[in-house]
Amino acid sequence: MTELQKSEIVGTPALNNVYIGEMDMWPLESPEFNRIYPFYDNLRAGKFTTTKCKKCGHITFPPQVICPKCWAEELEWVELPQKAKVVAITETQAGAPLGFESPLIIAWLTFDHPALKHLIGRIIHAKEGEVKEGDEVKFVTFSVPANPVEVKKDTKICDRVFYAFEPVKK
Ligand SMILES: [Zn+2]
Repeated sequence: MTELQKSEIVGTPALNNVYIGEMDMWPLESPEFNRIYPFYDNLRAGKFTTTKCKKCGHITFPPQVICPKCWAEELEWVELPQKAKVVAITETQAGAPLGFESPLIIAWLTFDHPALKHLIGRIIHAKEGEVKEGDEVKFVTFSVPANPVEVKKDTKICDRVFYAFEPVKK
């Protein structure tokens, strides 16, 4: 079996040998491919945001391109709280999926916000067994392997970022 090399071929990126492009589970975050791209721009600025309807005031998470309550397309970006409390957790101690390291910690989080009461989130920067129910965690961003994409026959490197939560150190 030949070793996977970082490919110059657009559409089959090896993603720095983390996994093959076809197994990529992260969204393309540029305006050409994603209508909620401001969410990712906001992540790069350290902001946890979502969309609010300018007509009826309804806030949704994850962000939308149309209001699910009144179908208006006029939405604005609003900030969400960056701290949450752990309600329950699950840890994958070995055998995490490709692109993730063990322990892979997924938590049910609760927020002090009328529109975002609960969220299933990933917790990073924590050791196995470190996170407990009732702990406080805070929003954090991390970089995702870049993905080369073709935009009208010009290859563009799509830098990517995503969010998770990390323990608040006492
Ligand atoms: Zn609305």
